[in-house]
Amino acid sequence: MRIVDVREASVPLEANIQNSVVSFADHTVSLVAVVSDVIRDGRPVTGVAFDSIGRYAQSGLLRERFIPRLLAARPDDLLDAGGAGIDPDRAYRAMMKNEKPGGHGDRAHAVAAVELAIWDLNAKLAGVPAWKLIADRHRVAARARMPVYAAGGYYYPEDSLGRLRDEMKAYGDMGYTSFKMKIGGAPLAEDMKRIEAALTVVGDAAALAVDANGRFDTPTAIAYGKAMAGFGLRWYEEPGDPLDYALMADLAGVYERPLATGENLFSLRDVDNLIRHGGMRKGHDLFQMDPALGYGLSEFARMVAAMEKAGYARAQLFPHGGHMIALHIVVGLGLGGSEAYPGVFAPVGGYAPDCTLEDGGIAPGERPGFGLEAKPDLAQHVARLVA
Ligand code: MG
Repeated sequence: MRIVDVREASVPLEANIQNSVVSFADHTVSLVAVVSDVIRDGRPVTGVAFDSIGRYAQSGLLRERFIPRLLAARPDDLLDAGGAGIDPDRAYRAMMKNEKPGGHGDRAHAVAAVELAIWDLNAKLAGVPAWKLIADRHRVAARARMPVYAAGGYYYPEDSLGRLRDEMKAYGDMGYTSFKMKIGGAPLAEDMKRIEAALTVVGDAAALAVDANGRFDTPTAIAYGKAMAGFGLRWYEEPGDPLDYALMADLAGVYERPLATGENLFSLRDVDNLIRHGGMRKGHDLFQMDPALGYGLSEFARMVAAMEKAGYARAQLFPHGGHMIALHIVVGLGLGGSEAYPGVFAPVGGYAPDCTLEDGGIAPGERPGFGLEAKPDLAQHVARLVA
């Protein structure tokens, strides 16, 4: 079998919200289709995926570099060992030809979208859900249902505390049992009032995480850590710049509850540096790398291996994302759990309607591939791309 075409479309995110650093209103996502020469029911078997939320579509990089390189590779050089599918890591290496090391920016998202579409293609060719293929390849005994938490807790221009409480209550009514809210978009004293307001609804502080989205310098990160110490929160996420490992290590020295970071690290080398220099505590702090932003699942599996080699558990990994692809990967690799963004970041954010929440967990289902076609808002974009 061989790849006959790779297509990309830039899809706008429906997200009129902002965190302490960015507005998502003009964000886009690259939706990618990898078309094979295998015909079933009169149509080519096609893998579909996207790069993740919170960045931008990478249409230019894909059209000018990564798609032409993949299509120029000798088809036999891309086949997996059995010859029935494409080897995702070989595809990654073909796309990365003539790319210098380091500087893992937007190209990591572009390559991720194609690499993940190849996982979707392989799963469809094998007639199995992506989580099952991923679990088989990585020798993981997958549990079908994995914990998810509702990420939100946004800032509102009017009645901010009231609307924050309403938002948390709405997540609880949907069945979520753990939650995350934004901090860093207001002065410290006001943020503490926001946390107190959220806790009046959530109840248990061990079910509430906070996310500063990389906003703080070291003194501010530590001041927040001291102010929040008494709450006993679930975790304190991305206090400072994603590449400021010394900040993480300094904070880990004074803040006892779990810290979390990694959603803006896109390569194995960046994660190696977090492991070496970030002071991340074994069995305690959380890693949040997102395979759909960091070159795809092949590179992500290398990050997981590096974590485990250094003594961390894969249960400490809660990938950023909140979409079907992340959920399949969390299940397939047996990670700690997945994010969910109820009601925002459509059409790529969120889960298919029949992926129902039970006991704080969601199962990705049994459809072949990542099941993106089962999500009605996304299915229309997929249909247009593969038509
Ligand atoms: Mg975050």
